[in-house]
Amino acid sequence: MRTSLIGYPRVGSLRELKFASEKYFKGDITIYELHQTGVELRADHWKRQQENGIDFIPSNDFSFYDGLLDTACLFNIIPERYQSLGLSPLETYFAMARGYQGSEGDVKALAMKKWFNTNYHYMVPVVDDSTSIQLAGTKLFDEFLEAKQLHITTKPVLIGAFTLLKLAKYTGVKQAGDFVQETAAAYADVLNKLNELGAEWVQVDEPALVTDLSQEDLALFTKLYARILSAKGNVKVLVQTYFGDVRDCYQALQALPFDGIGIDFVEGKQSLELVRQNGFSADKVLFAGVVNGKNIWKNNYKSTLAIVQELNGLAKQLVLSSSCSLLHVPYSLQNETKLSDNNKRHFAFAEEKLREFAELKAILGHANPYASDLYLQNEELFDGIRFAGNEAVLSRTSALTDADFTRLPAFAEREAIQNDKFKLPPLPTTTIGSFPQTAEVRANRFSFKKGAITEEQYKQFNFDKIAECIKLQEDIGLDVLVHGEYERNDMVEYFGESLDGFIFTENAWVQSYGTRCVKPPIVWGDISRSKPMTVEYSSYAKSLTSKPVKGMLTGPVTILNWSFPREDISLKDSALQIALAIRDEVLDLEANHIEIIQIDEAALREKLPLRKSDWKSEYLSWAIPAFRLVHSGVQADTQIHTHMCYSQFSDIIRDIDAMDADVITFEASRSDLAIIDAINDCGFQTEVGPGVYDIHSPRIPSVDELKQGLHRMLDKIDVTKLWVNPDCGLKTRGVTETWESLRHLVQAAKEVRATL
Ligand code: GLN
Ligand code: ZN
Repeated sequence: MRTSLIGYPRVGSLRELKFASEKYFKGDITIYELHQTGVELRADHWKRQQENGIDFIPSNDFSFYDGLLDTACLFNIIPERYQSLGLSPLETYFAMARGYQGSEGDVKALAMKKWFNTNYHYMVPVVDDSTSIQLAGTKLFDEFLEAKQLHITTKPVLIGAFTLLKLAKYTGVKQAGDFVQETAAAYADVLNKLNELGAEWVQVDEPALVTDLSQEDLALFTKLYARILSAKGNVKVLVQTYFGDVRDCYQALQALPFDGIGIDFVEGKQSLELVRQNGFSADKVLFAGVVNGKNIWKNNYKSTLAIVQELNGLAKQLVLSSSCSLLHVPYSLQNETKLSDNNKRHFAFAEEKLREFAELKAILGHANPYASDLYLQNEELFDGIRFAGNEAVLSRTSALTDADFTRLPAFAEREAIQNDKFKLPPLPTTTIGSFPQTAEVRANRFSFKKGAITEEQYKQFNFDKIAECIKLQEDIGLDVLVHGEYERNDMVEYFGESLDGFIFTENAWVQSYGTRCVKPPIVWGDISRSKPMTVEYSSYAKSLTSKPVKGMLTGPVTILNWSFPREDISLKDSALQIALAIRDEVLDLEANHIEIIQIDEAALREKLPLRKSDWKSEYLSWAIPAFRLVHSGVQADTQIHTHMCYSQFSDIIRDIDAMDADVITFEASRSDLAIIDAINDCGFQTEVGPGVYDIHSPRIPSVDELKQGLHRMLDKIDVTKLWVNPDCGLKTRGVTETWESLRHLVQAAKEVRATL
């Protein structure tokens, strides 16, 4: 049985590429030194795969920033504003990725978007009417040759033509369909060149095929590949899909002359059924994605073998593959010195997944696979007890009834009670929670972690920051205050660390975009809260002012979406456990006289399934109730806020209203306030604070532009429903610009109020 990898992580096991790139950006190392880091990482990754007997080793999965940006550059999709800077190819590439401000000009970066249902972000290629799509780059070929020099024949990888055209943004009158001929010709040129170089296989990634496809999409896909595949020559073409199943194009894939089709049997709910029902063409190789590229748990060989054996009977030629690129998991357990052996036994990061391929190969080569030692060891691991379940948690979740998800009295009645109680002016002003995490704020946390200062000293620093923050908010005249979140490194990690059931790693970094990596916590067991997590700081803040202070929590869906989830229970069950833990905190805050509580669901939109037909059944049906469970126990006069990042939720606007919060604030300033129309159209009952300025930029908005923004909102939103706030937390901003911007915000609200 042969094995194949779709892609390997590329930032380096200790984030070598991140650090080298950042040094290069600062001018501390040369472009040559940066290239050298790339050479070393690639060689290391290829050799590791080779050592584990991987038969199809990818190349060009390496990237200095992003794979789709690499593909755009390969095909000359470089907007004029970057070309005209006259920089070297790599410098132009970085200008597209990060923007450029220097002697040659001043240009903004390309937009960045979430890569399907992951927390990885890609750069959006921009195509205008003058774009000439053609083979222009050499990276794909250079890396193939680089591996060949090491005596490794790789399978070059690039994003496929369909996904490229689907994800690009078109700024002129021409659309995807107008670029079919030239795009297909450019990919055909890639095949010609690979033929010349002696490549055996090439992998074209087409994750867009697992989304809902229209007839038009199917026609586009078929047209592209009919042309591309006519140029195949000797090189074999693997069309690689991932993140779901290919139910809308299974027949089309079989009908086209692909040599291999990569199908995801981990996330693809209908994948197995599709092969069962339709069979699999005898002249094609099925690359079966059975090793999870997204999660960190060990592979269950029993389940994998069951799939493989069935597929063996259905497809003539089978290759074992990862379900998607290993980009989405951390490097290696070798870098974890603090995890217990019992934890580690159950995990497989990228390097350990390579071992799994080697083991699966050995097991399948065994005369009686189910009697092989490797199989039996794995079976024993899964049959054993991983942790003692928390009975108290389980009985709480199983005792939940509809009433637990329903807050009473209903919204309108609560709204009247709260208006009466808080007596806030029209257009009340507030912020999203965090204030600048300055170097001293981070140094304080770091010193405490290192043991250089006592807990008392650490806390006193935070208390002082809170006092300063409250005073400043009062001075500039904000209506609803916050404590500033100085004690939080990260909105998920902070709660994960305080809850039972999570575990943390030292070096399990995963690339989020470019040089930015995140370290998601792992949901290991049943989640519960053993003590209050935020009451002390919130109560202190509240004691300093007569104005309302919002308590600040992260909601269950966001905590879960930004962690590695369990695979032995459903996401729904995990979400309910987290919801109950956060609910306890909500009730404790309320008992301590915190009258407004914000429960952030920054990442709610993120894991919305790729297919619309799955939105409700697979996700919203538990995600929205999990949020409701968190706050349904509070009194009518406790005001519940929530906050969401990413403004695209026009399509789930009713579900958001059904979260039944009293107030929602969200990111809107960059989407040109488009969501406001959706709110207007659907009779949204929740009070809303669409962010009136963009906190992702250091720019200070003027009072006039803020007033204009508010007037535009008032055209669509009833004045009794509208709040005034920035569009996200201020933790990444500088101190001066933050306070200056907020002063303008309060001023703008006052001036608009005066006209009411
Ligand atoms: N309360 C959080 C903060 O202000 C929300 C962050 C977020 O939405 N990403 O930082
Ligand atoms: Zn936000």
